[in-house]
Amino acid sequence: MQLVKIPLTLDPIKAAKMRSTYEGRIDNAQLSRLLDASAGFCSDIQVQFSCDTDEQGTVIVTGHAQGEVSLTCQRCMHEYKQSISVEFCYSPLTEKFKEDDIPDIYDPVDVDENGHIAIAELIEDEFIVSIPFFPMHDVEDCSVEQDYTLGEIDESVEERPNPFAVLQKLKK
Ligand SMILES: [Zn+2]
Repeated sequence: MQLVKIPLTLDPIKAAKMRSTYEGRIDNAQLSRLLDASAGFCSDIQVQFSCDTDEQGTVIVTGHAQGEVSLTCQRCMHEYKQSISVEFCYSPLTEKFKEDDIPDIYDPVDVDENGHIAIAELIEDEFIVSIPFFPMHDVEDCSVEQDYTLGEIDESVEERPNPFAVLQKLKK
């Protein structure tokens, strides 16, 4: 399915009045900061979110997003693809709703001079902070083994009789 691009900015108050929901993508061409934070690749980000007003009248924009970036494994120094998914719950800072009025469960976000929030940029930020400080492959995918057992190599492997030799003996 070809996902439509979500708007880069949106008027959350207007969208909340209309209870708008969005499903789409942020084109990776828009994600230069995320690309810089990766090892050279980031996918489009798939996004789903809805705008609404809670019982207190706080405008909220809640949703989730997924994408993939390339990172350099800090154990084997090879590149790998890491999928990232984030959840968010934003509340715009307005004249009526200052930072102290917004419940802690929401992330207060600034609006621009048109009352818009930079939704695509906010989601890109979520991805950037989700990149692990020390990226590493899953152990089973990494070319460097997690547990070295140097000096503890089981020598009995070499001393074990060749099963074919045993068969040969049995045949005699
Ligand atoms: Zn690795």
